[in-house]
Amino acid sequence: MEYRFLGKSGLKISELSFGTWITVGDQTDVEGAFQLMKQAFDSGINFFDNAEVYSKGNSEIIMGKVLKKAGWKRSDLVISTKIFWGGEGPNDRGLSRKRIIEGTYASLKRMQQDYVDLIFCHRPDIHTPVEETVRAMNQIISQGMAFYWGTSEWSAAQIKEACHVARANNLIPPLMEQPEYNFFRRQRVEMEYLPLYEETGLGTTTWSPLASGILSNKYVEGIPEGSRFSLKQYKWLRDKRLDSPEGKEKVLKAAKLKKIADQAGLTLPQLAIAWCLKNPHVSSVILGASKPCQLKENLKAREAVPLLDDTIISKIEEILANKPEGEKDWRI
Ligand code: NDP
Repeated sequence: MEYRFLGKSGLKISELSFGTWITVGDQTDVEGAFQLMKQAFDSGINFFDNAEVYSKGNSEIIMGKVLKKAGWKRSDLVISTKIFWGGEGPNDRGLSRKRIIEGTYASLKRMQQDYVDLIFCHRPDIHTPVEETVRAMNQIISQGMAFYWGTSEWSAAQIKEACHVARANNLIPPLMEQPEYNFFRRQRVEMEYLPLYEETGLGTTTWSPLASGILSNKYVEGIPEGSRFSLKQYKWLRDKRLDSPEGKEKVLKAAKLKKIADQAGLTLPQLAIAWCLKNPHVSSVILGASKPCQLKENLKAREAVPLLDDTIISKIEEILANKPEGEKDWRI
């Protein structure tokens, strides 16, 4: 396993990391999660990602039990959580100071941890002044509840504003962003955030490298039993990500991309994950896996990165036809 610096910080995280959305809590219990997390840890993964909203807190509870059971040295781990959706009450959503502090206390309690290494604002909150959020995240750090703070799915302008507010008040700015990044969603990581990597030292921990599993090509002939899109409680996700016109187009493209993977002697998940890893602005690709065999297959993506030469990349671009374009130079 290779370790990359998280943006311009001194923290090193494994370039492949372990995510818990849906898999830990909805698809696996403590024993199942233990098997997966042990496999990840034994393969060199040090970063384990979670969020207060995953399985309504159950994912954090299970992860906490696994960490206790495994007994790994705490300093060998980088653990995250994300705050935004904490419940149904009027103060249970968003990024107010009350929400952030209470949400973090509750997350740490569920995970049986004194602190997390990384804490993310899970989405932007257009109702809370950004200075309130920046100050609350700084309070979390100064109270020792987290070491670094960041954002998830914030626009470049929102991240810049938070950095500006932090600097103007001698506070710690956000270090990292957690965006979706895969063959189908590229604009932010490849274009919008470009100035931030240098200017603010932004690191990225990217999510859904397989577009929720579509990039395994298993949805080409329907929905396999037990797969993510077969889960009753995630029908909303299936409607949005698979049954929508965009979802159907992704399934068709996955079948075409699989041919490129075959020619390179890779599986499609390996090709898709290696492609994410090839981007130097990605600090860590967060893997999702509901079964040990998936994790085993996906971990091999690291070895596939050198195979992605210009010929393969241009074949991929031809199928995707979505390469982000920068500002037009009107002088040319
Ligand atoms: P992926 O897009 O990689 O999807 C993972 C799912 O795809 C697995 O759970 C499995 O689902 C299926 N899969 C994985 N590997 C294979 C394989 N080799 N063959 C066949 N099927 C496979 O990642 P996620 O969407 O899970 O995202 C990864 C992590 O990112 C999350 O766990 C979470 O930590 C984070 N995240 C963050 C978000 C944010 O807003 N900040 C949003 C979403 C995720 P199954 O077996 O059930 O079909």
